[in-house]
Formats: sequence, structure tokens, C-alpha cells
Amino acid sequence: MRILISNDDGIYSPGLLSLAEVAREYGDVRLVAPDVEQSAMSHAITILRPLLYKPTKIDGFDAYRVNGTPADCVILGEHLWGDVDLVLSGINLGLNIGHNIWYSGTVAAAKQGAFLGVPAIAFSAPFDGEVPDFGRYADHIRRVIEVMLEHRELGLLNVNFPQEPTGICWTRQSVRHYDGQVVPGADPMGREHFWMAIKPVEATEEGTDRWAIENGKVSVTPIRLDLTNEGALSKASTAASSRLE
Ligand code: MN
Repeated sequence: MRILISNDDGIYSPGLLSLAEVAREYGDVRLVAPDVEQSAMSHAITILRPLLYKPTKIDGFDAYRVNGTPADCVILGEHLWGDVDLVLSGINLGLNIGHNIWYSGTVAAAKQGAFLGVPAIAFSAPFDGEVPDFGRYADHIRRVIEVMLEHRELGLLNVNFPQEPTGICWTRQSVRHYDGQVVPGADPMGREHFWMAIKPVEATEEGTDRWAIENGKVSVTPIRLDLTNEGALSKASTAASSRLE
């Protein structure tokens, strides 16, 4: 079995190596990841310049660094290796729950695998400046990989770890509204700059990814590729007032 692993923190991130060490129990592993950090690049792809695919040394793994985005890495990795059976992404340094799923390069790398018809899983862990002990997540990583291999129709899973997991559960994405605060500051030269500092304005809903994390559980969310708003479509296509012609 061929397992392609990528991330958005870059090829030298400790999270990538920890994920690869678990994944190698299930088949041949190849690491193809950005040469520098590409966090919050979402599903960007590179089309205005060429991509380079350079072999690199990562602890006995077949590894390549790419001057591109996470999605580029999965496209190129699948193209050059071929017949990939599973795409894994992470382990990201930082959670990817709720609205962050839209911004995440980690989730996008897995999503790119799903676009190519390959089952794919994104993994993310909390990060407060200290690199976490990823070993504590190994059993949960194994469990999710095994469920995916048994049920490949799951397609795309987004997995998030709490600091100290006490269990694991299926969840849905938390969708809350945020106040889009932009906080101004000044650099050492006195130039004005800005930080994006968004804050949720609603409480956590039970059964969501955020709820799982707040309750010490590993969150596993099946993600779909079809963004159609079924409820709105059904209402709009039947109501006389929203007729388009
Ligand atoms: Mn990242």
C-alpha cells in the first residue's frame, strides 16, 4: 500500500515525522511537503511558475520538498509516485476546527487527495509554542487509519486532538459567527501593522469538533467536497419569489 504524506508546516516539521512513523506500519510511505511553512494557504495551487521536487533527508524516509503549497505537493506527489492508496496530512501544529477548516493548508492537502479519488485524513494538534508529545496520539492515529481503510467511502476525514485525549468521537464542523477584529500595532520602525484576531461570538454546540476538543476527546469529522447548500437550493428552486427566469 502506498501512503503519501504532506502537511502545511513544511517538510522539516516534527508533526510530519511523527505521522510518518505511525503510517509506515501500514505500507510504503513517501513524504512530499512544502519546503517552507505554508500554513493558512488553504487550497491554493501554483500555476504561474514551475514547481521543483527535490529529494531530502528525513530519518530514513523517502522524502521530497516542493517549493509550493500543500495542494501542489499532493498533486505532484501523486503524479510522480502514482497509485497512491491513502493521503495523510499533518500532524499540524495548531487545531483545524470550525471556520479554520476553510483556511487550513493541512486540510487542503487531504482534500486534494480526496479530489484525486484517494481516501485522505488530516490531523491537527493544539500548539501553544511547545512542540507537543505526538506519541500520545499514535493509538488514535492508528484507529482512524484503520477505520478509513475499512470504509474508504468515508472519503475525507478531519481529525483534531485535544491536549490529553480521554476518548475519540465522530463530530460535525462547528460553524459559528466571529467578530472579525483587526488589531493595529507598530513594528520597531514605528510602521503601523495589523493582526487578524477573530473571536467566536456564540457558545460551543454539542457534537461539534470544538465541543469534542473542549471535552478532551479526539474529534473526527467527515468532510464533503460538494459545497452546495441543499436547504437553500431546495427552497430557492421551489419558491415563486426566487424564480430565476
Ligand atoms: Mn500549519
